[in-house]
Amino acid sequence: MKNRLKVLMAFSEVSPFSKTGGLGDVGGALPKALKDMGHDVRVITPQYRRINERKYVLRDVIRLQGIDIPMAGEQMTVNVKSAFLPHSKVQVYFMDYRPYFFREGLYINPKTNTGYEDNPQRFILFAKGILETLRKLQWQPDVIHCNDWQTGLIPFFLKHYHQDDPFFSKIFSLLTVHNFAFQGNFDPDCTKFLNLPADFHFEGSDLDINGQCGFLKAGLLNADGVNTVSERHAKEAAGSEKFGFGMEKVLKKRKDALEGILNGIDEQVWNPGTDGLIKQNYTAEDLSGKAECRQALLEEFNLRSFPDAPVIAMISRLTEQKGLQLVQESFEAMMGIPVNLIVLGLGEDRYHAFLKKMKSRFSKQFSVHFKFDDTMAHRIMAGADMFLMPSLYEPCGLTQMYALKYGTVPVVFETGGLADTVRSFENGASRGNGFIFGKANDKTLMKTVKQAVSVYRDTKKWNQLMVRGMLENFSWEKAAERYVDLYHRCAGK
Ligand code: ADP
Repeated sequence: MKNRLKVLMAFSEVSPFSKTGGLGDVGGALPKALKDMGHDVRVITPQYRRINERKYVLRDVIRLQGIDIPMAGEQMTVNVKSAFLPHSKVQVYFMDYRPYFFREGLYINPKTNTGYEDNPQRFILFAKGILETLRKLQWQPDVIHCNDWQTGLIPFFLKHYHQDDPFFSKIFSLLTVHNFAFQGNFDPDCTKFLNLPADFHFEGSDLDINGQCGFLKAGLLNADGVNTVSERHAKEAAGSEKFGFGMEKVLKKRKDALEGILNGIDEQVWNPGTDGLIKQNYTAEDLSGKAECRQALLEEFNLRSFPDAPVIAMISRLTEQKGLQLVQESFEAMMGIPVNLIVLGLGEDRYHAFLKKMKSRFSKQFSVHFKFDDTMAHRIMAGADMFLMPSLYEPCGLTQMYALKYGTVPVVFETGGLADTVRSFENGASRGNGFIFGKANDKTLMKTVKQAVSVYRDTKKWNQLMVRGMLENFSWEKAAERYVDLYHRCAGK
C-alpha cells in the first residue's frame, strides 16, 4: 500500500442511512473498500429525519456539540453525532440541524414533488459545517472527497477563503460528479448565506453560471481533482452539451483533471448467494433458487397469465433520463410479444399517469409500484429474467450491475456506464453478458427486446448468458485503488 491517507468523504446520502439513488449506494460502499485498504476514511452526511438513531446507534460527540456557523446575519448552531457504517469500522458523522434536515424528503418535498425552496441554504450550511467540524475535531484529512453539487462549495471555500489558514491550507479536494444534470444552480440571492468578503464580485466569478449561483460549477473549477463515474461518461460529458448540460464548457478548463472511474457494487448488500431479502439464495453454480424467486415474484404481483413469457423488470427513477419516453412509445408492442413487465419507481407525473393507464389495460402482464422500496427492489432483481434500462444517458448506473450479479440479463442503451459494463450477446460467441442497442428510438429498443426474448427461449444459451453476467467482477476494490491514486495526485503526494 502507498502511504496511509486520511480522507473525509462528504455525501448528501449514505446507504443504508439515507438513499434516493446510486449516490447513496456509493456513499455506503466506497468508504468501506478504502478502509479495507488501510486508509483512515471517515464520512460526513446530514442527519435526516428518516435515519433511525437507535437502530444505527448514533452517539453525541462531546467535542462536536454547539458548532456555530455564520449564515448571512445569523449564527446557526449544529451538533455532530457519530456512528459506524454497518458491518464496518468506518466512522460516519451526522450533521444535526433540525430546521434544515429533519424532513420527509432529502432534496424534494414529497408533498409537492418539487425541490425544497431553501435547498441552497441547507447545503451551504452543510458545506460550511463540514469545514468547521474538521476544525473542532482538529483532524486534518489529506483530501476531502466531495460528491455532487450538495458538496460543491467545499473546494470553492478551500481555494478562495481558507488558503492562508494553516489548518486548511494542506487539505486538498476531489469532486466526483454522479450526474451532470443536477447542478445546484440557484438564485444569486443565496450568496448572502456564503458570508463572502465585502469586495467579492459575483458577476463573472466561479459561482456565476448565467446569472445563477452554481454550486457544482464552483466545485468543478476549484477542486484539485475532478471525476465522473465511468470512463465513457467522462468523455461524453466533456465532449458535448447533450451529456455535459452546460458543464462541458467548465470541464474544458479542467481538461487535464477530469477522469472516469467506474463505480463498483457492494457485494455484502447485492449478492444472490447471501441476500436475506429474497425467497431463495442462488449462485452461478446452482441457479435453482432463481426459479423459486421468479415464481414467488409472479405470485406476489399476481402475474399468472403468461408464466412462460420472460419477466422484464425496471427499478428506476421514472424520468426522461431513464428512457421512460422510449418505454412509453414501445409499451404496447412489448406487451404483444408477450412479456411480463414489473416497474418499481418514482418520478415525473406524466409517466406515473401513463403507467397507471397501462396497468388498467394490461393488468395480467404488467405490475407497477410507485414507491421507493429497497426490499422490493431486491425481490424484483432476483425474480426477473431481464432488466430493462434504456437510459438516454447514464453516468454509471448501478442497477445494471446488480442485475448482472443476479443473473437478470440487462437490456440497455449504449451510453456511459451502461456501455462500459454491458457487452452484447452474439450468437456463437461467448463474450456477451446482455443486450445493448445503439439508437435511442422505440424501433431499435423493440428489436433488441425481441432478440433477447428469442435467446431466452433457448434455455441453454440463456443460462450461459446469465452465468457470464453473474461471474463479472464489479467489486469496489478496483475502483478504490483508482481513487487512492487520484487522492495522491490531488494532494501532490
Ligand atoms: P440513479 O442514481 O441515476 O438513480 P443508479 O442505477 O445509479 O441510478 O442507482 C439507483 C439506485 O436506487 C439503485 O440502488 C436502485 O436499486 C435504487 N432505486 C431506484 N429506484 C428505486 C425504487 N423505487 N425503490 C427502491 N430502490 C430504488
